[in-house]
This record gives sequence, structure tokens and C-alpha cells, in this order.
Amino acid sequence: MNKIFIWILRIVTAVILLQTLYFKFTAHPQSVEIFTRIGLEPYGRIGIGVLELIAAVLILIPATSGAGAMLAAGLMSGALFFHFTSLGIVVDGDSILFIYAVIVFVSSLILLFLHRNQLIAMISRIFKPGNLSSAVLIIFTFLFSNCTTAQNNKYMSDNQNKYYSKTDTSKITVSNDEWKKNLDEKVYNIAREKGTERAFTGQYWNHYEAGLYRCKACGNALFRSDGKFESSCGWPSFFEPITPQSVKYAEDKAYGMERVEVMCGRCDAHLGHIFDDGPPPTYKRYCINSVIIDFEKK
Ligand SMILES: [Zn+2]
Repeated sequence: MNKIFIWILRIVTAVILLQTLYFKFTAHPQSVEIFTRIGLEPYGRIGIGVLELIAAVLILIPATSGAGAMLAAGLMSGALFFHFTSLGIVVDGDSILFIYAVIVFVSSLILLFLHRNQLIAMISRIFKPGNLSSAVLIIFTFLFSNCTTAQNNKYMSDNQNKYYSKTDTSKITVSNDEWKKNLDEKVYNIAREKGTERAFTGQYWNHYEAGLYRCKACGNALFRSDGKFESSCGWPSFFEPITPQSVKYAEDKAYGMERVEVMCGRCDAHLGHIFDDGPPPTYKRYCINSVIIDFEKK
């Protein structure tokens, strides 16, 4: 009976781990969003996916179940940490990733407990006299992973944007130096230096969930999914903003073209350009960079 229980636990843990890594390898929007926010997209996402694969395989092999469960519990404690910060609340949406993380974390802990003898044996083998090199290796790995985590935390707190608000609609006029302190590099490049992301590389050009798009620099509500349409241009395309005041316009003669620039109505961030080849009823196409918008699921 106990054996059957352990096997069910192993299979459930491994299958859900495989599901979360499937999300990572197929660039599920929630995964991409969370790794973009911590500045580890795409390598962090792929790396964690590979570790999840290793954990799932180790869990399914009886002799290494304990090690696999330890790895899975470590990975999921990291995931849960993000889900319990404001980051997770913004990203979660339907919270499926959160539920997966909780199930895998709890079942890994149970597996760890059931396989504690295996782990004790493993640890004593590693730390037995004469096996100093593997002990040193393990300690280094541990220190390295801790440094990486510390780095990420630093990255997150450095990038807290004090001008971002979903409720304050008052205009923002601050210097570019001040923006530089509050925006990450990619967002700053589009917002303040009028950069353009490469076509078909952004997060939202083929994104059609129902919800709201906000300015990534200030949180101002810009477009609704009802105002978005499928365009083959490679950038998110909208035919109307939420209100006429959500955005503003300026002439743009850069690169020898006469275009009309679209900016955020609250903070003047550059968003993209507007063209006259959109669908009815407005016949306009607001061609917007994914980097400068945030999606909020309805
Ligand atoms: Zn803005």
C-alpha cells in the first residue's frame, strides 16, 4: 500500500513538473512575463525548464527519488517566493502556475520525507573522509546559487518604478535621468529614446486574451483587447485607444519618413506610430511596441 502511494506521488509530481516545463519551453505568456520581470528571459526560463526536466526524471527513478524531490522542492520554493510577491499577483491571472507550484512543492516535501534515508546515505557518502572534492563542489554550488538569488533580488528592487500607478492619472513630467533610474533598459529605450522592437519578437503581437493594456512606464490604461486586431505587421495593433486622452500624437520625421508618433497621454512615453490602414470603424492602426505595454487580464 505504502509502495503504491509513493509511486502515485512520484508520478503526480513528475507529471506536473513536466507540465510546468512544457509551459517554459513553449513560452507560455505567464512564464515569459515572470522571467521578463526578473530580467532572466529567455535563458532563465529555459534553464529552469531544464532543471525541472532533470528533477522529474530523478523523481521517477526510485534510487534517486530523494535527490529529485530535493531539487523540485528547491525550484518550487523559488517559484512560490515569486508568486507571493507583488510580481506574482500581477502575473498570475488564472493562477494555474501557482496551483502547480503548490502541488509540486507539497508532494516533493512528502517524497523527501519518505526518502530521507536515501538522502542521509547520499550526504554521508559525499561528506565521508577522503571525498573532500565533492564536498567542496557541493558547497560551491550552494554558494553560487545563493549569489544568483541575491543578484535577482537586487535586480528586482533596483527596478522598482515609483511612477507606475494604476490609479493616479495625474500627468508626469520628469527628466530622462529620472526615468533612467525607474525603467529597465529596454523600456527606457522605447519610452524615452523612441526605439522600436524588432517585428515578431514582442510579447503581444499575437496575444489575444481579453483584458487591458497599460503603459509600462506609468501604468496609464491605454488600450483594451476589444480594440486590438490581428495584423500581420509583427507588432501589437489596435484600432482605438480606451479614451481619446489615453494617448497623444506628435509628428515624426525621423528616418526620412513622415509618420505620426503615438505617446502615452500621462507620461509622454513613446509607444509607436499610427497609420491609416486599420480596420473599421476607425480605419486606424496603432502600431505599438510590446515592450512598452503591460497586459492585465480581465
Ligand atoms: Zn505612460
